Amino acid sequence: MKERQTKEILSYDRKHLWHPYTSMSDPLRVFHAVRAEGVRIELADGRQLIDGMSSWWSAVHGYNHPKLNEAAEKQLQRMAHVMFGGLTHTPAVELARRLVRIAPEGLDKIFYCDSGSVAVEVAVKMALQYMHAQGTPAKNTLATIRSGYHGDTWHAMSVCDPVTGMHSIFTGRLPLQHFAPRPEIRFGDEWDERCFAPMGELIEREHDRLAAVILEPVVQGAGGMWFYHPEYLRRLRETCSRYDVLLIADEIATGFGRTGRMFASEWAGITPDILCVGKALTGGYMSFAAVLATEKVAEVISSGSPPEFMHGPTFMGNPLACSIACASLDLLSENSPLPRIGEIEGILRRELAPAAALPQVADVRTLGAIGVIELHRSVDMATLQQRFVDEGVWVRPFGRLVYAMPPYIIKDQELETLARAMVRVVAETE
Ligand code: PMP
Repeated sequence: MKERQTKEILSYDRKHLWHPYTSMSDPLRVFHAVRAEGVRIELADGRQLIDGMSSWWSAVHGYNHPKLNEAAEKQLQRMAHVMFGGLTHTPAVELARRLVRIAPEGLDKIFYCDSGSVAVEVAVKMALQYMHAQGTPAKNTLATIRSGYHGDTWHAMSVCDPVTGMHSIFTGRLPLQHFAPRPEIRFGDEWDERCFAPMGELIEREHDRLAAVILEPVVQGAGGMWFYHPEYLRRLRETCSRYDVLLIADEIATGFGRTGRMFASEWAGITPDILCVGKALTGGYMSFAAVLATEKVAEVISSGSPPEFMHGPTFMGNPLACSIACASLDLLSENSPLPRIGEIEGILRRELAPAAALPQVADVRTLGAIGVIELHRSVDMATLQQRFVDEGVWVRPFGRLVYAMPPYIIKDQELETLARAMVRVVAETE
């Protein structure tokens, strides 16, 4: 009976549902998930998989968490949603208090929105409206670094890596932005001034046309899982300030502890002008994001004509999402995940190390609760995904990258199982 139901679900899904980055006519296989609890995702056939993905960086506390469930249920009894135009509510204010408390100093003006990509659009709009308001409207393009990923909406796509960013077919139609090479000095290696020079020259040359530089601090995620030296950000902060170019930190993936600091910007001790957060903001419960700006950004925008910031999505400040986000941030502050993330890094480093000796492998790197095996050649995603499920773990590789970013609640033994499965499966590849 159950088996027949699953067959039906999968066949209807195949016929009617688009999955992320897949073809509708020849999609990759999907698995039927029926439950998730703690660090495990349960499939319809009863198999329990140790989650190595945190559902794309979001489920940091694991699944079905009693505190997050309670926050959702309590809020549901009061109101799931009310419009944010003309109304406010306690969950929105309480979440703002928490964000201001933990964000890099000086970011205390908050705009709530629906998803990471929309947060990037909002941040870009803020930068453009800022330049318009201060009477420098020609400063209306963006600079970024290669290997970045910022989402799938229009402006976000325009600052994704033009090659690995999955959006190359839109080249020519997207707004033209400026790209510097990705910072090649790795996190933990010795800093070399030459690393920043191309970005420094770009800003010096183009600043009259630049509204902002946008980048993922320290860890570049979906564009290549690359970890670079925080000194780059200090140089960038100084240069942006010197040339009146805003600095937008996209911490949608890195925020809330993932890199071993609450925000990756902290590795450099910088405050960006605008900061985007999302994903783990709600502990992975629902789509929600926030854009934090400095007082100066808010003041300049509000001194312009029009003085209003021109954005206002239907579900802005959704109370359900805000309540869950408050509970998620309380979990992070009551019981700091950072020591545990340090331990996770240690275990990932130790357990993934044998992969470095494999001929298929180009590089192995770890930072915080992120472990990456980079291969010389692109992997066959369908085969590897199936192999990982056979091994009892949930790992979804892409391109030449097999990586893990598990929920912070993962236990040592589960992490070892996960990492060893990664090394074993990579060792089998051609
Ligand atoms: N920025 C970064 C750094 C991301 O990793 C992502 C999502 N992978 C986004 C933006 C887009 O977020 P969303 O998928 O919620 O739109």
